[in-house]
Parts: sequence; C-alpha cells; structure tokens
Amino acid sequence: MNCPHHCEVYAWKPRSYKDLPLRIAEFGTVYRYEQSGELHGLTRVRSFTQDDAHIFCRPDQVKDEFISVMEIIQIIFGALDFKTYEAQISLRDPNHREKYIGSDEVWEEAENAIVEACKEKGLNAKVAYGEAAFYGPKLDFMVKDALGRRWQLGTIQVDYNLPERFKLEYTGEDNQKYRPVMIHRAPFGSLERFCAVLIEHTAGHFPLWLAPDQVAILPISEKFNDYAQKLRAYFDEQDVRAIVDDRNEKIGRKIRDNEMKRIPYMLVVGEKEAADGTVAVRKQGAGDQGTMKFEDFAKKINEEVRNMTNKY
Ligand code: ZN
Repeated sequence: MNCPHHCEVYAWKPRSYKDLPLRIAEFGTVYRYEQSGELHGLTRVRSFTQDDAHIFCRPDQVKDEFISVMEIIQIIFGALDFKTYEAQISLRDPNHREKYIGSDEVWEEAENAIVEACKEKGLNAKVAYGEAAFYGPKLDFMVKDALGRRWQLGTIQVDYNLPERFKLEYTGEDNQKYRPVMIHRAPFGSLERFCAVLIEHTAGHFPLWLAPDQVAILPISEKFNDYAQKLRAYFDEQDVRAIVDDRNEKIGRKIRDNEMKRIPYMLVVGEKEAADGTVAVRKQGAGDQGTMKFEDFAKKINEEVRNMTNKY
C-alpha cells in the first residue's frame, strides 16, 4: 500500500496551511498471495497496480478536492464510454457514532462537503447510512458489465485515522498546530481489474480511440487488394489503425468475421469504389452507412477520435 509512505512524504518537513492541499500520486505495484482457487482472470491476481493517490488538505478544502477528483473520474468514464454508472455516498450510522474515530464536527463537515460536491456536479448519488469505514466517509463509483453485474471502480475516501496515527500536522494562520484531512482517491482501483471490467462492460466493443484495430478494409475480390493496400498506407500516415482482410473468402464471410473481431469500422471496396476513390462504410452494431469519398471517411474518423479524447 502507498498510503503510509505518502504520510511519511507529508511528514518529512513542517507544513503550513498555505502548503495545502498537497497531492501525491503514484502507480504502485502491490502483491497479495491469493490462494490458487481464488485467482480469477484479471479481477483477482497476485500482483496488481493501484492508482491510489493521496490528498492532504484542510477541512475547508475537502469539498473542492472532492469536486476535482469527481471530475477526473468523469473524464475517465467519459473517454471509456461508461454511460451507466452509479455513485454511492457512504456516511456514518447516526445512531452509533461511537464506532467511528474523529470528532462529530469534522465528520459533519466532511459528510456535508461530499453531499454538496455531488449536488454541484449534478451527480445523482445514493446515500447509504452506516456504510462508512470507521475512519471516514467515502464516495464510490460502480459500473455494470455486459451481464448486468455490478463492479466497484473509482473510490474517494476521507481518512481521519492515518493522519492521527502518523501524527501529521500543519501550522494554521493562527500559528496553532492542526491535523490535516487525508483523502485516498483511486479512479481506476487496480489497473488489472479495471481492464477486466472494461472488457466485461463493453463485451469487447471498445470505444473507437481504444480499439486495437479501428478499421478493416475488405476487398470484394483479390482484384481490389491493391486499392485496399493503398487506403491502408494512407491510414498509416494518419495514425489510424487499419488492416486489410485479403483472404480468399466471400465478402459476407469477411464482414461476419470482422464484426466478430469487434472492429469499429469496415470499408468494403470493389470495382465501383476503386474507380471512384470511394468506400462503402459499415459501422459495428449499426450496419450499412452508405458510400463516401475515401478522404471524407479518413477525415471523419480522425475527428471522431479527436472528439473522444480531446473533449476534456
Ligand atoms: Zn490510500
């Protein structure tokens, strides 16, 4: 775990209220000796990479820090096309306050900050009382996979325990010593598990920018292989990942096979297309998109990728 190390990084020199927030991020490899029966694909492995990061801040900064972490999570989910995610705010059990460390005052401040941050970002989060850890409230993001199973992904967790245990402090404006609030944030959780959930969620239909092959060019017969290769060379220059399916197969078979490979776009080329400099476009999941000038298609796909990755 990176958490204690980051506390030590905080503690190596005196901090003032002006130094905060202090944000430390790291992709840390961690190990857990799972029993062989518990190992499960990429979701349960013995060595994994956590994107845990830690924000040390003043109590009055919790809300703004939550908002910026929520923005990171929304950028990631947006770029990966996770449209249906849920959020849950885990708060104290109001009837058993003795189970939690930290004063009523700091808890209330942090809980309100989380609720307000969600409101401000228009995030429709479910509130769960009694689900908070003993050391602080949190906000979790869940996504559903292709089979409707729920997976927990991003998490933002307030922690009053570690700053206490590591005796972290900062000097306030009044020259008094105060304890900072620590926030753990992990938009991906573990990268290995995230990849598994992404594959399950999309059933292999990755967003265009991420698909290993973005375009498959399908010549109707071998007579048009040269034209297909010319198009592929052009895509290469444009940084579009294209392949040519020049197998000696019927076009119906080529379309089916490349659909199975989840390639976002297929371009069918025959006599007419080669003569006119056009392509017949098929889109994964949406079928026939009509014929267009090859240059227009190349421009369109470049724009589509740029829109997805530059949106933020
Ligand atoms: Zn942590």
